[in-house]
Amino acid sequence: MKSAGNPLFSVAQREAAILAPYAFPSTASQGRKHPEAEHAYRGPFQRDRDRILHSSAFRRLSGKMQVFTGDRGDYHRTRLTHTHEVASIARTIGRALRLNEDLIEALALFHDLGHPPFGHAGEDALNDCLRDHGGFSHNRFALTVVEELEQRYASFPGLNLTREVLAGQLTRADKTPAGELKQTELAPLLEVQVVEAADSMTYDAHDTDDAVKLGLVTLDELAELPLVHSARQAVHESVGVQSPAIERKCVVHALIDRQVSDILQTAAEFLATRGQLSWLEMQKSTFRVQPSLSLAPAKRELETFLYSRVYRHPQLLDVRAQAQERLQKMFNQLCRQPSQLPPAYQRRAERVGIERAAGDYLAGMTDRFCDQEFERLCG
Ligand code: MG
Repeated sequence: MKSAGNPLFSVAQREAAILAPYAFPSTASQGRKHPEAEHAYRGPFQRDRDRILHSSAFRRLSGKMQVFTGDRGDYHRTRLTHTHEVASIARTIGRALRLNEDLIEALALFHDLGHPPFGHAGEDALNDCLRDHGGFSHNRFALTVVEELEQRYASFPGLNLTREVLAGQLTRADKTPAGELKQTELAPLLEVQVVEAADSMTYDAHDTDDAVKLGLVTLDELAELPLVHSARQAVHESVGVQSPAIERKCVVHALIDRQVSDILQTAAEFLATRGQLSWLEMQKSTFRVQPSLSLAPAKRELETFLYSRVYRHPQLLDVRAQAQERLQKMFNQLCRQPSQLPPAYQRRAERVGIERAAGDYLAGMTDRFCDQEFERLCG
């Protein structure tokens, strides 16, 4: 494998040694819009991961809410910690399946980069503001961020990510109104599907944890759902109940473990006979990385519960209403007085229109900066 005298594996050698036939190898990459020379020791998807990690938009995820705003303390998830949990779970699945972990990690760190302040409330508000100008989707905005808004390199705008990472995010942007990946002739790469599955199991687990910790629902109420009930049973049988806090955390671990095991088991059944398929043959196959038929209904039940009892909890509806009202007012104010935008966004308005430029400016804000800017613009 290694050439004589050189103790280091190249990325291609390492991938040839460990990736499954159906994993997407770096050597198959279609490259970047602005051609660049290969890096001496990092593969194309490692470079994408690093570019995302070093971007300003990525750092701002630490100031963006997942479900709960910062005034509820420091325990619960932010958009940044959610992103890292997704990357961790997706890599675990990817490694077990011998997929391309570098591609998975880049896709996972990228997946929520376009989230506006105040989560889905912010997204709905911006979509409303821009309804006559193409609407707003955080998944699509992530592409705008990495293709146009981030300015980090001398020779091209954006991050110049590989076509595979951009295409992976585009499948998220093209999701159906119900939030599912569209059925297309060619399925997304397995690496893309793994990140999608990991995202969903991650928020199911951590929103359950945060909601109980913050007192919006009790574990007893959640345990009326089959998925949480069986996770709790597994905890009681393995370690017992030492304290409510440890019980809650162990149930969350069990929820993740149950879902990851289910995905891997389902995949293993297919791969037992079709494990020699290439990545392209896999895209043409009927196989999808998704929960088994036995787990899927229980998972949907948990998500329905979280939606009605947590995401639409009266205490969160107030935050939601306030965030939406503020974003709408700021948007109107910026459209009336474009000179209130930073110079870069004033120039952007000349190219894309004031509405889109104002929307892009608002979408990039952290929750805290959004509150500060509200005081400046409308206070
Ligand atoms: Mg996510």
